[in-house]
Amino acid sequence: MQSIKGAVLYEHNELVVVENMELGDPGPGEVLVEMKASGVCHSDWHVVKGEWWDIPIPVVLGHEGAGIVQSVGAGVTNVVPDDHVILSWMPSCGLCEACQIGRPNVCYKQPRSTATARVGHSGKDIPFLSGLGTMSSHAIVSEMSAVPIDKSMPFPQASLVGCGVTTGVGAAINTAQVQPGSTVAVFGAGGVGLSVIQGAVIAGATTIISVDLLDNKLEMAKQFGATHTVNAGDGDPVEAIKDLTGGLGVHYAFEAIGLVPEPFVQAIHATRSRGTTVWVGHAPLETAVTLDARDLMWEKTVIGSMYGSARPHIDFPRLIALYQSGKLKLDELITRSFPVEDVNEAFKVLGEGKVARSVLTFD
Ligand code: ZN
Ligand code: ZN
Repeated sequence: MQSIKGAVLYEHNELVVVENMELGDPGPGEVLVEMKASGVCHSDWHVVKGEWWDIPIPVVLGHEGAGIVQSVGAGVTNVVPDDHVILSWMPSCGLCEACQIGRPNVCYKQPRSTATARVGHSGKDIPFLSGLGTMSSHAIVSEMSAVPIDKSMPFPQASLVGCGVTTGVGAAINTAQVQPGSTVAVFGAGGVGLSVIQGAVIAGATTIISVDLLDNKLEMAKQFGATHTVNAGDGDPVEAIKDLTGGLGVHYAFEAIGLVPEPFVQAIHATRSRGTTVWVGHAPLETAVTLDARDLMWEKTVIGSMYGSARPHIDFPRLIALYQSGKLKLDELITRSFPVEDVNEAFKVLGEGKVARSVLTFD
């Protein structure tokens, strides 16, 4: 047993409590990780706000993290103590049909750790969100969630690869397979939307239109490679996108907000004939989207993207290589850094749209 501290959500829409807890040893196939940084992702905020009420609470929050392997359980061969790792919230079994065809991001089994931490004063055993719980000084995760990385990689930047960057860049590169010289529209300029923009840049798109309601985020979008910006508060963003693309619409549109129905449909309307729309945003449960039956008639495609269609053991090191070669901006994504004790402030600035990404630290 060792003492740890982590951000626990007890009640929806209430302040998160940073608890001192006790954590045991990793079981077979599990890894104990000392967390060094955790991104603050909108998905955690969905959980806090009760918009994903199917996730049981209380729970140790966080699913975007990087740290150092402290110890390993029986049978673990993928990592050894002192390895630096990024944590994947989609551990894969390797054997199901999805894994065997190279799509571990939609593994049918998802062998997550079911480890819990004990709160001393209440005796409660609290699970870790997504089998990770990265807003905690330590966590026990599945071996398949621990992806070893280059030790020169700074942890805050590495942590973002664990969710938002992989989700966004992967949606452009893996899911949509954006082509050189193509036109792209990205709805939403948060951490994921900015990463979609970066993915489109890396893929060679030449027109990249960022759509958001906040001018400060549209300014960020330009820094990350958007060639044009559209404030959706100024009028119909679909018309604005068509005006920027010779009346045709874009080859690829991405919904990277995941809050309300409209952008999911606007993204489809913003594509040209045979265009592809990728739904990246993970909306509140029961968000109903209404389509016109003719919306897809011009041979349009709509595809969901789960974790940027990533194969974490391939894609995490590639994203790091892109960062190290100056082709992927991660430093610029980190707007704020907070000690874990200030997790509620981090959620507040997220809700206000003031940050690209915040990162929590544990010293
Ligand atoms: Zn996330
Ligand atoms: Zn599988």
